[in-house]
Amino acid sequence: MTLLERLTRMRSAISDAAHAAGRGDEDITLVVITKFHSSQLVRELAALGVHDFGENRHQEAVAKSAELADLAVRWHFVGQLQTNKAKQAVQYAHAIHSIDRTRLVTALGAAELPAGGDAIDAFVQINLTNDPGRGGAAPEDLEPLAERVLETPNLRLRGVMAVAPLRAEEEPEAAFARLNDYSERLRALSPEATAISAGMSQDFREAIAAGATHLRIGSAITGNRPPAS
Ligand SMILES: *Cc1c(COP(=O)(O)O)cnc(C)c1O
Repeated sequence: MTLLERLTRMRSAISDAAHAAGRGDEDITLVVITKFHSSQLVRELAALGVHDFGENRHQEAVAKSAELADLAVRWHFVGQLQTNKAKQAVQYAHAIHSIDRTRLVTALGAAELPAGGDAIDAFVQINLTNDPGRGGAAPEDLEPLAERVLETPNLRLRGVMAVAPLRAEEEPEAAFARLNDYSERLRALSPEATAISAGMSQDFREAIAAGATHLRIGSAITGNRPPAS
């Protein structure tokens, strides 16, 4: 299958899942995750009408966003972000989906945004497992973390984000239902923070059914990732 075929197939699967859930295409933003892939692949996808791209490694995001500065695309950072990279991250990131601790919020708040740049879309990442190694804040930290984001002019609180547990541990439906509850808690604090970043190549249908607004889809569109370099 070509890139265009994979993209077209995914777009129509997303549309079908949205309609099945009584939702419209306009409710859902597709972020194509291009980690480990070349800048050339991003260029091809942009030519096919993709506007939102996601990366999970800071150095790679710095390099690609610089190489592709001529494209009108938006970069979403979806990986672990070290506080000492916050200053650089605000230079390329339209959105950060992995806000998981107050120290990171503080560092992003202290960074200087590019001249004329908008506040960065911020998603609080919640860990849906009991393993702290999986990334994301513990659910009890949701409100305190969100409060800190709301106090930070550099950031615009958009919603929650999560990665589903492995299927062997829990079905995505159950995990995403919990994420939807966290989203409700967040909206009680900040009614505009309605976004839910969830759903990858293998679980986007379940995520859409559970209210996801931002899908992070990699391999089903890009093909298998080359080994990490
Ligand atoms: C890699 C990655 C994705 C995309 O995963 P696929 O299974 O390739 O669709 C989504 N979210 C995050 C945080 C990732 O690191």
